[in-house]
Order: sequence, then C-alpha cells, then structure tokens
Amino acid sequence: MSDLIELADGNGLIEISAPSTDRYATLKLIDWWDHAKLRRAKVMVVGAGALGNEVLKNLALLGIGYIFLVDFDTVEAANLSRSVLYRAEDAGKRKVDVAAARLREINPDVRVATFHGDVTRALGQGIYRRMDVVIGCLDNRAARLAVNRACWRYGVPWIDGALDVLMGIARVFVPDQGACYECTMTEADYDLVNVRYRCPLMRPDELQEGRQPTTPTSASLVAAWQVQEAVKLLHGLPVPAGKGIYINGHTYSTSLLTYTERADCFSHAQARAVVTELPLSVAYLTVGTFYAAIEPILAAEGAENAALLPEQEIISRFYCPTCNVNTPVYCPYDAVMPDGATCPTCGTPRLPSILSRLPLSAESPAAEVPLTQLGVPPLAVLQVAARIQGAERIFWFELGADAQPYLAAWSE
Ligand SMILES: [Zn+2]
Ligand SMILES: [Zn+2]
Repeated sequence: MSDLIELADGNGLIEISAPSTDRYATLKLIDWWDHAKLRRAKVMVVGAGALGNEVLKNLALLGIGYIFLVDFDTVEAANLSRSVLYRAEDAGKRKVDVAAARLREINPDVRVATFHGDVTRALGQGIYRRMDVVIGCLDNRAARLAVNRACWRYGVPWIDGALDVLMGIARVFVPDQGACYECTMTEADYDLVNVRYRCPLMRPDELQEGRQPTTPTSASLVAAWQVQEAVKLLHGLPVPAGKGIYINGHTYSTSLLTYTERADCFSHAQARAVVTELPLSVAYLTVGTFYAAIEPILAAEGAENAALLPEQEIISRFYCPTCNVNTPVYCPYDAVMPDGATCPTCGTPRLPSILSRLPLSAESPAAEVPLTQLGVPPLAVLQVAARIQGAERIFWFELGADAQPYLAAWSE
C-alpha cells in the first residue's frame, strides 16, 4: 500500500508509504532502493540446507518476486539447529516443499517454484537463462563447478557461499568480469571432484555430502553477504566480481580475496550459448523427431553433418565377445555401468561403445531412442555441432515447452 504524490518542487513522483500498512516502508526509505525491481527479480537458490535457509529467509523478507529453489534432500532432525524454515514435524518431507510453504508464510508476495533433484544433471539448463542471479548454497565442489559452468554458458552472475564452523566465505562471480569459480580451483580441487566422480558431473546419490560442521551463526553471516550482493546486482550497482569476502570468526575479522582469471579455465573457454527455443517437450521427443524439428533450422544456416553433444557420455551398444552379439543401448554411462555390462545370455562382461557425439541424420540407428533415455531432462538445452563451410559451429536448442511446468508456481 502506498500513495503517489506530486512533489511541489516538480521533481516528479515519489512513493510515500506507511509503516502501518506497507511491509517494505522502511526499505523504501533507502534512496537507491527500487522495490519494483526486486518484485520483478528472478533468483535461483541452489541448496536448502543451513546456508540456503538463511538466504531464502532474507530473499523473502526483501520481497524478491520470483524464487526458484533447487534441492534434492529431505528434512531431518539434524537440520533443525541450523534451519529457520524447518520444524520437527517436517521430518521426511522434501526440503523444497517445506521451504516454499514457509517462505509464502513469511511473505505472500514471493512466488516460489521448486525443483527436487540433482542440480548437475537433472535440472534443465534452460532454467539458468531465465534467472537474474543464482545464489549457491552448496557444500561440494562438483555442484559448484556445474553451477559455475552453466552460469558462464548463459551469462548469469552467481554468488557462492561456503561455511566452515566459525569461518565462511561469500564470493561474487559475474560473466565477462574477471575470475569465475573454476578459476579458483586448484589441482587438488579438481582431484577431489575427479576422485569422487568419474567425470566432473556427479550422480545424485553422490551429492549426499558428509555431515559438515556448521553453525547457524556462520550461515547467517555468509548468507547475509550473499543476499546483499544479490540485491546490489539486481539494482545494477557495482559488485566485487571475481572477489570474495572471507569471514574469520576466530579473529573477529574479514578479508577481501581477489581471484585471478586462469588462462586454462574451461568455464571461461566455453562459448556463450545462443539459444534457439523450440516449442517442444522432452516428454515425447526421440532422437529422430528432435532431428526432424531442427533439420530445417540447420539447413537454413547451410549446416551439415549435425551431431548431438550429450551432457553425459552415452553407451551406444554392448558387444559380447563370447556370444559375438552387439546389443544397442543408448543410455548414459552411469545409468547402466557397471551392472549392465554383464551379458544376460552367457554372463561374461560385455564391451561398451562410448559416444561423446551422437551423429544426427534421418537414418540414424538411434532415431527411435527417446531423449529421456539419453538422460536429457525437461527444459534441457541440447548442444548440436554442425559444419558450415568446413568450420564447426555449435547450436543450442532449448526444449522450451517444458518451461511452463517448471515455473508454474510463479504464475499462481
Ligand atoms: Zn574461469
Ligand atoms: Zn554373451
């Protein structure tokens, strides 16, 4: 509730709001505060643990209009000492559902859409380009790496937070403005990602981190810095891109860390996605019908020899040397290995053929394969490589019909 009045000196309209009726009245006293901008803002929060709870609480208090919350976990008793949004009776419920309901209680203005699942593989990448800012409330490097690569690919700033008992760090990464999260990774960090996971993307069951020692106080501190930087980003104010604030609770001090852009950073090296949105859903597409949909687009560009570049390695077939039989598979490596390698006829281990490119043509042997079988999630952005006058070019095709189910809660 507010009233617009014309200022006598002709400076135009200012908003006068009453503390008794306007929950944002005190915020609106800040001269640069733009409440309308925050009401329009779309913020993705990845992780609904200790840090995520504090971030979400702050976003709701500030009246951020649209929140997209990603988490794969359920509430348990150990969360209750560090998570303002959960109650004892929530045990066993999905964190995203409980958090969304509590945020609506805190502030009914806030619309919360949720995704219960793995951010690295199950979340359609089309979600990123619909966000103004992403806030990472994660506890492992592999998930941070996945978020960073996606944010860089779609040009979305993100703010990472990390906790370690009385210590914490919040850091701001903005595409085209200095270092990214991957630039900060050391060889040891890559080793940790690669030791735990065969490739930098992880399986959902491996997302379960060990219990880390964290406190609600350090979560509050780090989350406050993260949300404050998000508010600045949303207002277009300068932010410390490629920098982090390190909070040392032992010494009661903070220090500013400046990261250097790394020449061999993969996130930086990848091309910015130029997305073509298709009014199609992964629910019914096969490799063949997907190709039929994009073939005219590729032809108009003079592109030939198209190949799908799957996000995960695909096993195209198993060969059993004992039976001398080839069996088509067309599934992600992790979905079938190692158990699926055993020959059902003779019991010997079969040899997988692994694809990192799936040639697309009307005659493809994979034409009948559903995209879901290849591990393609809803609202995926499929990368297709094709040759134009001898040079390879990457096309990005989004399965845009899946956006509505993802974001339905935003239009309720
Ligand atoms: Zn980088
Ligand atoms: Zn066999």
